[in-house]
Amino acid sequence: MSSTRASFALTSFAALTVAAGASAQMPPQQPDFKAFRIGALEVVALHDAEFVRPNDGKIFGVSHTVGEVGDVLKAAGVPTDTVTLSVDALLIKEPGRVILVDTGVGGALEKSLTQAGIKSEDVTDVLITHSHPDHIGGLVRDGKLAFPKATIRMSSAEWTFAKKDTQLADIIKVINSHVQTFKPGAKVVPAVVSVGLKGHTPGHVGYEIASGKETLLDIGDTVHSSIISLVKPEWPVGFDNDQKAAEKNRIETLKKLAKSDQLVFAPHLPFPGVGHIQADGDHFKWVPGVPEMK
Ligand SMILES: [Zn+2]
Repeated sequence: MSSTRASFALTSFAALTVAAGASAQMPPQQPDFKAFRIGALEVVALHDAEFVRPNDGKIFGVSHTVGEVGDVLKAAGVPTDTVTLSVDALLIKEPGRVILVDTGVGGALEKSLTQAGIKSEDVTDVLITHSHPDHIGGLVRDGKLAFPKATIRMSSAEWTFAKKDTQLADIIKVINSHVQTFKPGAKVVPAVVSVGLKGHTPGHVGYEIASGKETLLDIGDTVHSSIISLVKPEWPVGFDNDQKAAEKNRIETLKKLAKSDQLVFAPHLPFPGVGHIQADGDHFKWVPGVPEMK
């Protein structure tokens, strides 16, 4: 990682955490990738960063006590003073296209792509779930487009929202003429349909990847923690722009995913972030599992 990129990554994380009113720790970032298939498509989960937050009541369990959050973490057998989130992206190869969904914060994604045998120039489409720095930070490298041949696609509401954010001005300037917008529900590339998921940001979307009878749903930031977001989906989350709408979306989406046994990718769940949501009493649990390569 060049020093420019390193400082950019830290700035992005700083922006995210300043907005959230807390400080974050960013351990060394290790590249990693996991390839699997959805029907005839090759799909690759790509690791970008690991994000360790203090359990300080500012992100998870807003309006609840640090002790209550600690009890949920303790029951899951993990440390009670921090919450660890992965930052990951997804790549889909379809005939004539290499599609990247989200770009991380500018951590190890570039190295993860190299390990997976993908060059930056190979990427034809970048689909953005939403414009937070841990999803669009990897779009720009050393002041230039990180994926020079790609069309960058996001919902029109999200692009309007992003352009108003002065902290994103440097990124917006570089990507401006490469962005194409869509309305949620639109097919954005032949194998991928966008899905509106309200609350996290004004134009937040997920993406459904389909081939034959198999599908994978990238749910973006509908959930953040594989523990708290599923055990207490009704708890407000500091990252969410509209906490009420996000809570409604989280509960409705989790119910639907558990009922349909939908294969899910979630960028902040433990790498590779692929698995199923299961109902567990009056709440939910995460069952990680990547489809076997056939
Ligand atoms: Zn995020």
